[in-house]
Amino acid sequence: MVDSNNCPSLVLNADYRPLSYFPLSIWSWKDSIKAVFLDRVNIVNEYDQYVNSPSFKMKIPSVISLKDYIPHNHKPPFTRFNVFLRDDFICQYCHHKFQTKELTFDHLIPRSKGGVSNWENVVTSCSHCNWKKGNKSLQNSGFNLLKKPQEPSQYSLRLKSKNFPSNYLHKSWRDYLYWDSILEKN
Ligand SMILES: [Zn+2]
Repeated sequence: MVDSNNCPSLVLNADYRPLSYFPLSIWSWKDSIKAVFLDRVNIVNEYDQYVNSPSFKMKIPSVISLKDYIPHNHKPPFTRFNVFLRDDFICQYCHHKFQTKELTFDHLIPRSKGGVSNWENVVTSCSHCNWKKGNKSLQNSGFNLLKKPQEPSQYSLRLKSKNFPSNYLHKSWRDYLYWDSILEKN
């Protein structure tokens, strides 16, 4: 039996670019095989694993491309990873660069004081600054923001994402998906 978690398919648009980068567009092997049978996708690459049924046997697609082009959505999803990417993985309070595991995000206006989770109120922060700022508002925290946070364009994020070698995405696919979880909005 095939473990679907081990064989996700990367979904490319009809122009062979990923449908989206952050989150990366991937489908389960079941969805991708269904799409193959519905003649909606081309198989670009395959895993070595086969899927068997009484009536057919085929290799599981690892990369598929849509037959019909889907126009890109220009609004980037509000995710943890995209906040880090927008801020270049730099803590906006102490202005130092960190690894993703040392980073968290911080609300300029604390949630306890009615601050919302959006592009304008959430910034990348190291754990230390996050702890130091605590429940204080920016004005009372003594910190100077590196830059005013705003919604990035999909294009600017894509440019920044080029700093990631492509094998980074594949090797740590699972971690990557974790960082892609949509931040809770309120
Ligand atoms: Zn910091």
